[in-house]
Amino acid sequence: MIPGPIEFEPEVMMAVGAPTTSHVAPDFIESFGHALEMMREVWLAPSGQPFIMAGSGTLAMDLAGANLTEPGDRALVISTGYFGDRYAGLLRRYGAEVTVLRAPVGETVALRAVEDELKRTRYKLMTFTHVDTSTAVRVDPEPLGALGEKYGVITVLDGVCSVAGEIIRQDEWGIDVVLTASQKAVGVPPGLALLVASPRAMEAWQKRKSPVGSYYSDWSHWLPVMKAYEERRPAYFGTPAVNLVSGLEVSLRLILKEGMEARFRRHRERGAAFREAMRDMGLRMIPVSEEVCANTLSAPYYPEGLKGADFMKAIASSDVILAGGLLPGIKDTYFRVGHMGSVTEGDILATVSAIRSALSACGYSYR
Ligand code: PMP
Repeated sequence: MIPGPIEFEPEVMMAVGAPTTSHVAPDFIESFGHALEMMREVWLAPSGQPFIMAGSGTLAMDLAGANLTEPGDRALVISTGYFGDRYAGLLRRYGAEVTVLRAPVGETVALRAVEDELKRTRYKLMTFTHVDTSTAVRVDPEPLGALGEKYGVITVLDGVCSVAGEIIRQDEWGIDVVLTASQKAVGVPPGLALLVASPRAMEAWQKRKSPVGSYYSDWSHWLPVMKAYEERRPAYFGTPAVNLVSGLEVSLRLILKEGMEARFRRHRERGAAFREAMRDMGLRMIPVSEEVCANTLSAPYYPEGLKGADFMKAIASSDVILAGGLLPGIKDTYFRVGHMGSVTEGDILATVSAIRSALSACGYSYR
């Protein structure tokens, strides 16, 4: 029950564990092409250009950063935790002049503050983290997409902890890049960086004056490959992660079979039920209000006086695996529970029960 890698569906694991084929085998070309097509449906981005690459979520962040910034470009990073701060460092590496709007722990940055900043300075790029996995704070991407369109800023959504769990309507919301990694709600073992770019993002990349600062991430190498596979032709730049792409094709099929709206609803309901159970035990969440609570993971504070190390030790003797805190400064005051992807009601109940037992083993009584 950690926030990724999650538990994977048996059909996905069968595909990942099948004998590896050539990356130009007809079956594989079909899987790759179909996976690219299905990404547009999962992202709700019919006009987008999907990319599937071997790498983790940080590579997906790198792809957007490397291809869309040139030295001297201004970038606005809206940070709600650890991963927002990572994006600021990444963009600086490509020569961007970065301004960070950082929310207090558990909160989001007010829209008014974002708009004031966009009015004050002309930015090329704005990044925000849909769900920051360090705090379980969820940002509403829709008005940020609208601000990006209003001020002509390319918007990049880090959806590593949200795509295929939280509601995302990339085209409708006008968000230029939505990126993720395979090991979370997309439901495939770690190793794939996934991204969909809008026509506006692709145009901004085409109009660059300087070469992309990362050889591997440069879309010039990868766009022809994605286009070829989608047209069911083989192509090569770097060897694709054949088994993982086969697993992705299976997982995206399962996701679309459930249906995006049903999947969004299921995550909302399970997330709300889990938070309710935590609050019943007297635990407080890092996100300050229900509106900013993620549905893909939760981050409850330990009760007053309880030592995190004792709690994690007690949990370790149960059948449930949870994650500790991550945000520097407060990491020993809270723990994290992932409830995305294939998580069932039974998993939620077992987790609540394990947390309850661990708390009482630590001497905490909650009525
Ligand atoms: N962004 C967010 C919101 C994340 O949760 C993570 C990973 N937990 C990343 C980026 C980086 O992804 P990866 O660890 O796969 O590189």
